[in-house]
Amino acid sequence: MKAIYLDNNATTQVASEVLDAMVPYLHDLYGNPSSMHSFGGQVAKTIREARERVAHLIGADFEEVIFTSCGTESDNTAILSALAVNPDRKHIVTSRVEHPAVKVLCEHLKGKGYNVTELAVDSEGRLDMEQYENSLTRDTAVVSLMWANNETGVIFPVEEAAQLAGDRDIFFHTDAVQAVGKIPINLKDNSISMLSLSGHKLHAPKGVGALYVRKGTRYSPFLIGGHQEKGRRGGTENTAGIIALGKACELAERNMEAENRKVKYLRDKLETELLKRIPNSKVNGDTVNRLPNTTNISFEFVEGEGILLLMDGFGICASSGSACTSGSLQPSHVLRAMGVPFTMAHGSVRFSLSIYNTEDEIDFVIEKLPPIIERLRSMSPYWKPEASICVNV
Ligand SMILES: *Cc1c(COP(=O)(O)O)cnc(C)c1O
Repeated sequence: MKAIYLDNNATTQVASEVLDAMVPYLHDLYGNPSSMHSFGGQVAKTIREARERVAHLIGADFEEVIFTSCGTESDNTAILSALAVNPDRKHIVTSRVEHPAVKVLCEHLKGKGYNVTELAVDSEGRLDMEQYENSLTRDTAVVSLMWANNETGVIFPVEEAAQLAGDRDIFFHTDAVQAVGKIPINLKDNSISMLSLSGHKLHAPKGVGALYVRKGTRYSPFLIGGHQEKGRRGGTENTAGIIALGKACELAERNMEAENRKVKYLRDKLETELLKRIPNSKVNGDTVNRLPNTTNISFEFVEGEGILLLMDGFGICASSGSACTSGSLQPSHVLRAMGVPFTMAHGSVRFSLSIYNTEDEIDFVIEKLPPIIERLRSMSPYWKPEASICVNV
């Protein structure tokens, strides 16, 4: 059975053109780009081209792009660098809906004596910009706010937020892992100091990412070692991965508009039809400022896990907004931050599409999901409050 893959915010398929571009660097062209001989030197040249492609997609200069191993490394490097170069400042501003790569790091830093402000969001997942502005102090070393949310697709006004930080001489980092390749980004026109991106979210392989660091930004490396990346990130380059990322960025730039049109059409069809056919269902998050590929829908009185399991029987892959931890079902921190009621949050499903989805696949999901929800509801304990397994969070 062929998978109907609607989980592209978790990871994406490597594009054929990307695979073709990277394969030679795994076998024939295996030289070390730092070597003196031209066998290695030719690889260095291709890395330079990949760097230019990544930079071009985000409106940066190639020298501002540092290759890393993943989005998580980029996020960690950015925040830790900002703290290292501002040793007198002990305050971090972030939001309650960040990816664990930022959120868990900030929690860890709290334990190390840093003050962390986790900004609240409203029921649509939007930031309160006034609250944000008021949170910035002379002690703030860094602001880290995601460009687009991986669970809901909600887009934060990061350029405006970066301006407010920049006016106060505060470093601004954005986790743009879900935004790069999906929405236009031009770093020339804004005050963002650092930006993270990851290969496997835009049809390059897992294990490669990049960190943009604006020219003139004081910087402290995370991986200290060789002179690779001009001493900004030690470790022999993941040449095949880097070349793949360059290719994926080139493709994203070339095809973004046409792809967005198609993906958004399919996403909107899926969302509209499911809401129409399934009573007590609702979209989570702002539907105006949102990625074109994502919809997060709550089906009241059912569990996300149950939905996923039954959908899996039809080969449909999506993900749920609740995670089963230590026997208790906890809704995701993102939905909790948005104040989504338990009966809704437990039954949330994230569908995230890509250019490889077809209308037939979407029609199949529209046909299969309503009876799944009906079946689960008919045996749901949530219908009877006294039997509810909702936990206090
Ligand atoms: C996937 C993801 C990351 C982590 O990227 P990795 O390359 O998997 O480490 C960080 N932030 C967001 C928003 C993501 O979606």
